[in-house]
Amino acid sequence: ALAVPDRQVDSVCPYCGVGCQLTYQVKDNRILYVEGRQGPANAGRLCVKGRYGFDYAHHPQRLTTPLVRREGMSKAGDFVMDPARVLEVFREASWEEALALAGGGLARIRDGHGGAALAGFGSAKGSNEEAYLFQKLVRTGFGTNNVDHCTRLCHASSVAALLEGIGSGAVSNPVMDVLRAEVIVVIGANPTVNHPVAATWIKNAVKAGARLVVMDPRRSELARHAHRYLQFKPDTDVALLNAMMHVIVGEGLVDQGFIADRTLGYEELARNVAGYSPEAMAPLCGIDAETIRYVARLYATSKASMILWGMGVSQHVHGTDNARCLIALSLMTGQIGRPGTGLHPLRGQNNVQGASDAGLIPMMLPDYQRVDNPAARARFEQAWGVALDPQPGLTVVEVMDAIDAGQVRGMYIMGENPAMSDPDANHARAALARLEHLVVQDIFLTETAYLADVILPASSFPEKNGTFTNTDRLVQLGRQAIDPPGQARQDLWIIQQMAQRLGLDWHYGSVADVFDEMRRTMPSIGGITWERLEREGAVVYPCTQEGDAGQPVVFTERFPREGGRARFVPADIIPAAERPDADYPMVLITGRQLEHWHTGSMTRRAAVLDAIEPDPVALLHPLDLERLGVQPGDTVTIASRRGEVVLYARADDGSPVGAVFVPFCYYEAAINRLTNAALDPFGKIPEFKYCAVRLTPG
Ligand code: SF4
Repeated sequence: ALAVPDRQVDSVCPYCGVGCQLTYQVKDNRILYVEGRQGPANAGRLCVKGRYGFDYAHHPQRLTTPLVRREGMSKAGDFVMDPARVLEVFREASWEEALALAGGGLARIRDGHGGAALAGFGSAKGSNEEAYLFQKLVRTGFGTNNVDHCTRLCHASSVAALLEGIGSGAVSNPVMDVLRAEVIVVIGANPTVNHPVAATWIKNAVKAGARLVVMDPRRSELARHAHRYLQFKPDTDVALLNAMMHVIVGEGLVDQGFIADRTLGYEELARNVAGYSPEAMAPLCGIDAETIRYVARLYATSKASMILWGMGVSQHVHGTDNARCLIALSLMTGQIGRPGTGLHPLRGQNNVQGASDAGLIPMMLPDYQRVDNPAARARFEQAWGVALDPQPGLTVVEVMDAIDAGQVRGMYIMGENPAMSDPDANHARAALARLEHLVVQDIFLTETAYLADVILPASSFPEKNGTFTNTDRLVQLGRQAIDPPGQARQDLWIIQQMAQRLGLDWHYGSVADVFDEMRRTMPSIGGITWERLEREGAVVYPCTQEGDAGQPVVFTERFPREGGRARFVPADIIPAAERPDADYPMVLITGRQLEHWHTGSMTRRAAVLDAIEPDPVALLHPLDLERLGVQPGDTVTIASRRGEVVLYARADDGSPVGAVFVPFCYYEAAINRLTNAALDPFGKIPEFKYCAVRLTPG
């Protein structure tokens, strides 16, 4: 007989940044099914991940006991997935022993070599409170700013450009504002796959009359709904966007009043784009000049135009320049600061916005207060009662290089999986294996945990309370529906236990106590009380005073920069760090697929999602399949200068000819073994969207 739930728990989806609210239907400490709830971002809608991606929490491979690497057991060799063999590598330990070893090992390195010999990676899968406590532990317990998380791999370049240009790294308008836009530009994003409920709002807007322009080298399903689809050549974003601005400036379509009243640096920007005529850029970007002119006019002259973008924009060595161009487009046309306009970098993980806000980044304290700003540092030193390091810390990829150089010797990684998600993953794995001491806190034996000295079994999303901030700046409450299995413990408890082993006297009574401390140190959320969150479930920031409604649309009167003005920053063409050549003639583009989430540790253990997409795939244009002599379903080997993997070929006529698209969630064909670790110099984001590869059948 079908089990009937006896408890309903309202919470939030653990996956993407859309932040859909849902209800867990629970019986006997098991989630039976999930239903959509009337949240501000989803209005009852859920995608396949939200609806079917919950049973990973009950998977038999959950870590339920602390594990310690067996004496003398090598970290060399490949990841072993077979759980039966886990105990050949690790032995079970009590919490007391595991914490003593975990914290003791990190404390020894700190005391012997200084705090800069340590680093921590937190996670955008965790709550705001976990992110806040984790970065506080690294800054006050380790004594370093070497703390980062996966924002470095997704929107760090967007945030760098936004902070520089308009003074805030978050979105200006919520996704739902597409319903108030006349023109919607989606560039370098595939919302149907990566932000599926957001895609439904875009399609609804199109049905109601909005004109959608999709710009992407790889044609997505959303392009079917587009008024214009621009399939520009990979790596030519700046050429295309500067050409659009050339038209807007040249044809006098700029908003002179907005530029004069609210911006700086327009003259320099206008001089720069003068050299980028559509006729000159058309051969480079593969879009004819008349189409560039048409789209530029459409965007500039509509009553309300909104831009949404994703990692197709951000994951380049020129990711910051790409975002600078999008910001300049909105500023020169005054398409920002009103409903239905603005800039929306679609956030990846469900809490990447909140984890960044909470200070899980190496150059910023909570609320984007720079560590090298003496006044900001002094405020936190007073709040936390500890002197803080004034040097910005190392970013995700820089940490791996610092391990190679012998500078970083120990790490604490909570909920991240750099052995799968870092570029040039063979190098990242070798670096992690070289650490003197690695502590990993996770719910599964991930590829990263496999390299650990101590593994601390943590709680999954529905096993804890906490706040999560979605792509719209909505702070939402996730509520505990079930208990963690076995001896697995809640992450806030584990972080505090680690803090105590590092000499900190931390005793937060509840998650609400942590949130209250965050409110006191973070003006943007200062007005959000825990009671209000419990009552309303979601509050948008900025919300600086109790009782504030919060501001879904910002920059209505001023930008949060000195003088209240935004700044134009010109950008020129910078090519990808590694171009195709005779040995490696094709381009590799990595990304996600609808059913799987990031490195796959959760969704590949969700039965329905795994059944839909069980195997690693490489998506290729039919012309490339024919040229290679490969049929769909055949295996194909992809190699770069850094490694090779074998996957199943799939036909995709949306992929550009000469490029291959591969999702990064498959441990058995970990595509990041091939990607290039070249970094954008501003956001320090790696170039996941472009490197040179060779394909061979078999
Ligand atoms: Fe979850 Fe995102 Fe799907 Fe909503 S759109 S159900 S937040 S994965």
